[in-house]
Amino acid sequence: MIVMKFGGTSVESATAIERVVSIVKARAERRPVVVVSAMGKTTNKLLAIANAAIAGHRADYIAQIQDLRDFHSREARLVVPLSERAELDRTLDEHFQELTELVKGLAILGELTPRSIDAISSYGERLSSYIVSLAFAHYGMKAEHVDARRVIVTDHRHTQAAPLYTETYARLARVIPPLAKDSIVVMGGFIGATEDGVTTTLGRGGSDFTASIVGAGIGAEEIQIWTDVDGMLTADPTIFSGGHRVKIISFAEAAELAYFGAKVLHPATVIPAVEKNIPVLILNSRRPEVEGTRIVSESVPCKNTVKSIACKRKITLVNIHSTRMLMAHGFLKRIFDVFERFETPVDMVATSEVSVSLTIDNPQRLAEVCAELCQFSEVSMEESQAIVCLVGDNIRFTPGVAARVFHALESVNIRMISQGASLLNLSFVVAEADLKRAVESLHREFFSQLDPAVFDANGAADAAA
Ligand code: ADP
Ligand code: ASP
Ligand code: MG
Repeated sequence: MIVMKFGGTSVESATAIERVVSIVKARAERRPVVVVSAMGKTTNKLLAIANAAIAGHRADYIAQIQDLRDFHSREARLVVPLSERAELDRTLDEHFQELTELVKGLAILGELTPRSIDAISSYGERLSSYIVSLAFAHYGMKAEHVDARRVIVTDHRHTQAAPLYTETYARLARVIPPLAKDSIVVMGGFIGATEDGVTTTLGRGGSDFTASIVGAGIGAEEIQIWTDVDGMLTADPTIFSGGHRVKIISFAEAAELAYFGAKVLHPATVIPAVEKNIPVLILNSRRPEVEGTRIVSESVPCKNTVKSIACKRKITLVNIHSTRMLMAHGFLKRIFDVFERFETPVDMVATSEVSVSLTIDNPQRLAEVCAELCQFSEVSMEESQAIVCLVGDNIRFTPGVAARVFHALESVNIRMISQGASLLNLSFVVAEADLKRAVESLHREFFSQLDPAVFDANGAADAAA
């Protein structure tokens, strides 16, 4: 068995779904289990509907729900056999009626809880997986739709739920392989349910994680992540378009890149795959002939020092200064206790005798954090910063990497720098305004020459053409 996960753009329309069907069909003998994201930008649209509801914009949310229904109905009708149209309409009616009731309830309450966010955002994957399963039938393949909430069991941390692995693996092993024997199993990514059946989600971009959990649970031979780029590229294509395809990379490197902003992979994806040692492939659903990126457990010998450059935008740099605490022990503990209490993760840290600088990317509770920190220190904040993170196994063995970075970024103000404890990354903070320039010059510095065993020089250029 293999798991094939298709992201939002890969199922954004009838045409895209037809591409999915033909990609899966060509691999049918490997007994694929298909995991799909919501169609296109559906998750964002569902969240916009929820926000319109609690703001009391009734006409808006009613119109937005209608648009979403029209969109799903229009695309689905193009890929669903005539004989199934009545059933399709009935199912769409059911889902959209339920959604409307839920949204009206929110409008009355005027409050959006993490639990209701999950209930609403789950409709994207529930609809897409159902539609894709019908599409297989249209093209003559037997398919089975499995509601992911039956098999992915999570804790109660709504919008960021973690799988309960033992129970989830047990259910996956029981439910999926018998169905996959003679059918294509189709399920939604991103969603799950608590043990008592309340709908949860694994966090934005979580369908990659679902694919990996499913792969581990059924003992798949491979997990394929089909998306809209040729694979992991040497730089984020939304910032720098001249990147090259990385052909092969280790789990550790891929995890680090994902954590530091390479959206092509959800950061948790590698966890189940590493545990069961299942290779993960990143592939382009618009160019299935391209080999993509292969993520493997062992480190990959490479002549280049760096494998890829990841970036995280919209970072806030927090500077905490305390002369009173000069040389006092317990200063760091007090600081981190505050971040812990307000559930605000910290990405990078730099310390001096009397001050600590750190970065955060979720400013939701920053005002509360700041108020607490101000009780025992002076705090200043700088918004619109970015983390740039060079990742590569060889960074740990190669002297002079920092010197090359400083040289390449001669004219850019580096606000903070840290060599990660894992030794395979070198990260620094620059102002967002300098980000593009910084990535361009770093790319020139580290990727002017490419090890052909690891990189495909033409990959990204072809994709852009
Ligand atoms: P999907 O909907 O298929 O899950 P995502 O939008 O979540 O797709 O992830 C794919 C996107 O990740 C790409 O379109 C690209 O803009 C972005 N991305 C960021 N960094 C990288 C990188 N290093 N290599 C490839 N893609 C990247
Ligand atoms: N549809 C979800 C999201 O947009 C999950 C995913 O696409 O991976 O975040
Ligand atoms: Mg994604």
